[in-house]
Amino acid sequence: MNFSTLAALVMNRFPSQCAVCRSWPSAPVCHACLTRFGQPDKRCRTCALKLPTDSPHTQCSRCWHEPFGLDACFAALPYAFPWSEVVSRYKFDSQTGWATFMASTLLGQSAVQDFLSQLTPDDWLLPLPLSTERLAWRGFNQAWVLTHALQRQSTCRATADASLLLRIRHTRPQSELKRSARLDNLKGAFAVEPLRANELKGRRVVLVDDVMTSGASLLTAASVLRQAGATHVSALVLTRTAPT
Ligand SMILES: [Zn+2]
Ligand SMILES: [Zn+2]
Repeated sequence: MNFSTLAALVMNRFPSQCAVCRSWPSAPVCHACLTRFGQPDKRCRTCALKLPTDSPHTQCSRCWHEPFGLDACFAALPYAFPWSEVVSRYKFDSQTGWATFMASTLLGQSAVQDFLSQLTPDDWLLPLPLSTERLAWRGFNQAWVLTHALQRQSTCRATADASLLLRIRHTRPQSELKRSARLDNLKGAFAVEPLRANELKGRRVVLVDDVMTSGASLLTAASVLRQAGATHVSALVLTRTAPT
């Protein structure tokens, strides 16, 4: 049993404080906080931006006018209090046990369950990769730990792999850049492992990440995957920022 599996077991089998309201004993996030902050939002089916609850549309106006570059995109939670703090603990304090909670929150959406259940072992579940430098600094790829948890906690038959899509160039954190500079920052950042490019031909790919802001990273990676022959590229993210 590796560390992240053990940490996940400890976080979910033993009582603890709710990470949001500090009630005790509790699940990692108590029922009351989940009810208050974790209600699923109606979201655009291709970019996962929040839509008005009463919207008759399945896409936002931006995706309606201009294709977004993802065939589908699912987000479980808004990137706002308290979830931004949960992501921060997971990512920056190495609390990898949160992956179990994150995966169950995503899998709690029937649309995500239905989507994943259609995949076959020929399809891919790929974490958004980190550069070697960032991986060395953080010690783990938070998207890969989340991908593992998703596969462990669902009946998804797609093949999870962390070495098919590569991040070959270290870039400035996207959060430091304005929206217009984000795509430029990522030019040449992703590549498919050259000896395995044929494994993407005609396949469906689902990219996994913890936070989606402008979507520039996912779109750049999706473009590289399509150039290698992937026919459908979609994304599952835990949190999505609000429209800007
Ligand atoms: Zn609570
Ligand atoms: Zn959209």
